[in-house]
Amino acid sequence: MTEISPSRRAFHDFVARHQRFLLTTHVNPDGDGLGSEVALGLWLLSLGKSVRILNDASVPAAFRFLTQTLSVEAYASELAEQRFTEADAFVVLDTSNKPRIGRLANHLDGHVIAIAVVDHHVSHAHGFGQVNLIEPEASATGEIVYQLIREAGGTLTREIGEALYVALMTDTGSFRYSNTDPAAHQMAAELLSLGLDPQRLYAQVHSHASAERMRFFGEVLSGLELSCEGRLVILEATPEMFRKHGLSGSDTDGLVDLPRGISGAEVVALFSEVEPNKVKVSLRSTGRVTIDAVATRLGGGGHPHAAGVMLHATRAEARSRVLPELERIVNTLQPTGQPVRE
Ligand code: 5GP
Ligand code: MN
Repeated sequence: MTEISPSRRAFHDFVARHQRFLLTTHVNPDGDGLGSEVALGLWLLSLGKSVRILNDASVPAAFRFLTQTLSVEAYASELAEQRFTEADAFVVLDTSNKPRIGRLANHLDGHVIAIAVVDHHVSHAHGFGQVNLIEPEASATGEIVYQLIREAGGTLTREIGEALYVALMTDTGSFRYSNTDPAAHQMAAELLSLGLDPQRLYAQVHSHASAERMRFFGEVLSGLELSCEGRLVILEATPEMFRKHGLSGSDTDGLVDLPRGISGAEVVALFSEVEPNKVKVSLRSTGRVTIDAVATRLGGGGHPHAAGVMLHATRAEARSRVLPELERIVNTLQPTGQPVRE
């Protein structure tokens, strides 16, 4: 058996020492956050622990099928008080940045509770738990959970496998992004050998778009701008567009990924004014440059090729804080070919 790292060992000790677990993930929970919660929760239940899952927001329709065996609750102040009072351990998945757990963070000071963080983001790599298991080389937080369960000799049931597969599939963009590595495919292979149906899981996650959302995407895409000889693609979603189609901020999921296919595109930036003067910036690199530092410097974070930040600013201000830096980054590249040596 391979050597277990000290932080993995610390996490296993954390599990052994506690009995009543409260799990959470970041605001706007995604497939990795939710899949990791459900998989970890089901495994903890199999160890005889009690488990609650509470997030800042409710589960998006795309992931509701994962919550059939284990309920995932959405924040309400009294409910959160009760859950923190009942629990003796709090596990934060897929973020190591306290403000990213949303309103749950307000309850931490009033409760004595042990905290463990399990994450794969490079930003905030120190974490805010007593145990911080942060492995940026993991394709998804679900990959870390998968390894924890295997190290502990746990059984990968079909339900755990499905939750882990969704975590891995969504964070790798269905095995297309640069974080797709041999370990990700090996994990997928083992999960599929449990008898999972990858076509059905993909369809369950990706068949929830509404006609309104498609029209909204169309409107944002029709305003697409190119800069730096087409290497930088800029999208803007305005409050009027959200209102017109009856949508909210989380409905932009997947939008920033669409222009990646434009020939010559190196970076895509989406400025979504989700509320007046509140702009969610989503950044994507198609692989040759890294953009997480831009988001981190402004108070956000993410991965080398997918990052974001919420800015309290107008769209024009947000653009002026973000675009000059992105222009500088893409201008270090020649239009085609290799990065220019500085
Ligand atoms: P997205 O653009 O899909 O919302 O996010 C892309 C990546 O950036 C994700 O890994 C997400 O965790 C990270 N990210 C997005 N927004 C924020 C933010 O406001 N703060 C931090 N720390 N990370 C973010
Ligand atoms: Mn993730």
